[in-house]
Amino acid sequence: SKDEGRNNYAFFRTEMNERVLERMQLENALRNALREEQFELHYQPQVDSANQSIVGFEALVRWHHPQQGMISPARFIPVAEETGLIVQLGDWVLNEACRQNLAWQAAGLPPIPVAVNISPLQFRQSEFAATVARVLAHTGLPPECLELELTEGVMMDAAERNIETLRRLRALGVKLSIDDFGTGYSSLAYLKRLPIDTLKIDQAFVRDVVDDTDDAAIITTIIGLANNMRLRVVAEGVENESQMRFLIAGGCGFQQGYLFSRPLPGAEFESFWRRRLSN
Ligand code: C2E
Ligand code: CA
Ligand code: CA
Ligand code: CA
Repeated sequence: SKDEGRNNYAFFRTEMNERVLERMQLENALRNALREEQFELHYQPQVDSANQSIVGFEALVRWHHPQQGMISPARFIPVAEETGLIVQLGDWVLNEACRQNLAWQAAGLPPIPVAVNISPLQFRQSEFAATVARVLAHTGLPPECLELELTEGVMMDAAERNIETLRRLRALGVKLSIDDFGTGYSSLAYLKRLPIDTLKIDQAFVRDVVDDTDDAAIITTIIGLANNMRLRVVAEGVENESQMRFLIAGGCGFQQGYLFSRPLPGAEFESFWRRRLSN
């Protein structure tokens, strides 16, 4: 009856905790944000350890909510992933990052790769490699100026389809890196067979590297592994000089972190980059 329905509704209202409601609201707001293009990309430089020159930059998505202000990707990326909205958002990010990088090249800045984070669900779309090819063709960005950051989980998943996607991406000429290296379930045997260019050491290991001998050992081992396998190695989350010095002494080729620059809006990143070039 109608009354029963109402009681059930009341029951669910009370049982449904705040977190679930909040999550539903976030999902709706996210759908709306995609329609209204409330996202923008910020850029953080990756520098050469030898001379601190900028050799690449990572695109990090930002959401300007009209009422709530800035919402951190740590909060909305997981929801976007669970609801499948990450596919649409990821397409937007990929397009925007490639468009911006080509615009900078057209404005005389050096051709260096933009690194784009790819979520596992986005990567597992059967047409992912075709999407990347289409974005490159559409924007005109040279493939070697695009680097895709994938997590260990995606890389180590031996599913034939995933390996095929990696091969196709490689054939396009884009660069591939493993993000947050050391935090997932790596198989070193797999590393050998993966068509990758770069390992990114997770910032969790960098944070206490100067005081924590275990973190120091892990970092030194990852750097040695990467160097011996002729892979580029980027340490992320570098915040101070002592971390930087430890990484240089250990042979880490590239670094990224607040010590060099926070992620910046496009126009600010461009000024920062130009200042660096003229010094
Ligand atoms: P991530 O890919 O590991 O990115 C590095 C995060 O560390 C970024 O946080 C960056 O702002 C922050 N960071 C950089 N330097 C430092 C430092 O020196 N110290 C500290 N404490 N943090 C630093 P952000 O921008 O909040 O992004 C968080 C995560 O959200 C990213 O982690 C990535 O997993 C995800 N994400 C961001 N943008 C995208 C995107 O466009 N697509 C997807 N799928 N995920 C994204
Ligand atoms: Ca990343
Ligand atoms: Ca990372
Ligand atoms: Ca991370």
